[in-house]
Amino acid sequence: MILFFKKRTLAFLGTGIFLLCLSFGTFNVALHPNMNKWKQEKLVITMVKTSQKAVALTFDDGPDPEKTPAVMDSLKKYNALATFFVVGNRAEKQPQILENMAEQGHEIANHSYSHSYSEFSSNKPEIFKEEIDKTAAIIEKITTQKPVLFRPPGGYLSDNLVNLIKNEQLTIAYWTWQQDSKDWKVGNSGTTIANHIIKNIQPGQIILLHDGANNGLETAKAVDILLDKLTHEGYQFVTMSQLIKLGNKE
Ligand SMILES: [Zn+2]
Repeated sequence: MILFFKKRTLAFLGTGIFLLCLSFGTFNVALHPNMNKWKQEKLVITMVKTSQKAVALTFDDGPDPEKTPAVMDSLKKYNALATFFVVGNRAEKQPQILENMAEQGHEIANHSYSHSYSEFSSNKPEIFKEEIDKTAAIIEKITTQKPVLFRPPGGYLSDNLVNLIKNEQLTIAYWTWQQDSKDWKVGNSGTTIANHIIKNIQPGQIILLHDGANNGLETAKAVDILLDKLTHEGYQFVTMSQLIKLGNKE
């Protein structure tokens, strides 16, 4: 009987920790045993150490013909720069949006060609290479920017992927755990998303947002709210590569 209770208690605790990890968005990340090593070698970046009040807003899964321009309008209003992790097969359909991003000083980064989890979980270096190179070529052709950051779909990581990234002299752009805004979740309002970010803000953070998710214009609304509040607090919004450079200087 005692054993039975102990087992149940353990199972209960285990489930609790799992749910807690999920709610902090750390589950995938904490799982990979090499994560700390990769962070130390700066192959994977989750945050930058800087004394300056600077952060990087990052937007995944676009470009989207409606949501991306809405986000860009909000950024422009506050002279804020950001990094867009574009999906290759969407980028090639929206060259004008990419051109505008580059023109406005934003960084355009690589988020794979297909955004297919099954492609990535196959863990085949030749598939990773094709996904990354094809998207890099699309970005470079449209914007003349050569992307230096790659963010794997769903945060997928493996030794094969990290080795390839190292060979291609790229960096895996992760995000700061506390700044997984969950803006993609349908029903999360712009105010809720912005408040989460404002509450957790610290210099050097990489903030995870989506301009290509299915939650309407809530992300653009959140950007408007958080930029208004945080620019008044003295925060600067720079591209992720600029933020990394700030960290290297200190
Ligand atoms: Zn994505």
